[in-house]
Amino acid sequence: MKSPPQGGTVKSQSPQLEITPELFQRQMEWLKRRGYQTVSLKQALGTPVELPARPLVLTFDDGTLDFWQHARPVLAACGFRATLFVVTGYVGGQSDWDRDLGEPARPLMSWGQLAELQRGGFEIGSHTHSHRPLTELSEDEARSELVQSRRLLKRELGAAPEFLAYPRGFYRPEHMRLARAAGYLGACAVILRWRDLLRCDAFALRRMPIKGNEPMSRFKLRLRLSRAVPLVA
Ligand SMILES: [Zn+2]
Repeated sequence: MKSPPQGGTVKSQSPQLEITPELFQRQMEWLKRRGYQTVSLKQALGTPVELPARPLVLTFDDGTLDFWQHARPVLAACGFRATLFVVTGYVGGQSDWDRDLGEPARPLMSWGQLAELQRGGFEIGSHTHSHRPLTELSEDEARSELVQSRRLLKRELGAAPEFLAYPRGFYRPEHMRLARAAGYLGACAVILRWRDLLRCDAFALRRMPIKGNEPMSRFKLRLRLSRAVPLVA
């Protein structure tokens, strides 16, 4: 999420993945008016009869501090909760894992803030330990990313995470197996291409990316597309 313009604001190479607090608020208020109710990933993968008529899973990757500053109050005003995926090796620090791609380092939430969110009903998941794409790692390294982040989350928040989000949405079938073996109930990918809509697996959950430079009409279209395909078979 992008902070309001101010002196010294960091610039991103990928502004489409940022959203202003004002547009985020419009999106959330629209969802609220349409009767959407947020559920956790665990609920979404559970029994359909227990879900509200219009269930919605909101997920946020990386655990940046601007979530705490800007998104949290908007979600609270709408009565919404969300699932956050954090990079355990960087909690409380800066997101400087993509510096070589020209991405700015952003301040990240602390363990104390994550614990408070968890107490408020937010689901905290793993976004691995170092945010390196699993597809660039050896199998042992990938396993270590999944296991180590799970262990740290359990130590700091008192409960092992149930879900994982693949860094940058990149994964191969062996990463789905590794995630299952590490004890996760499922893993989130990202819809990067149209054919991704055809995937149907708890370890390749399709997330519709919401881009910050799109009008509300595009946001509504994305939502309609998301509703057209089941989360898992
Ligand atoms: Zn990420």
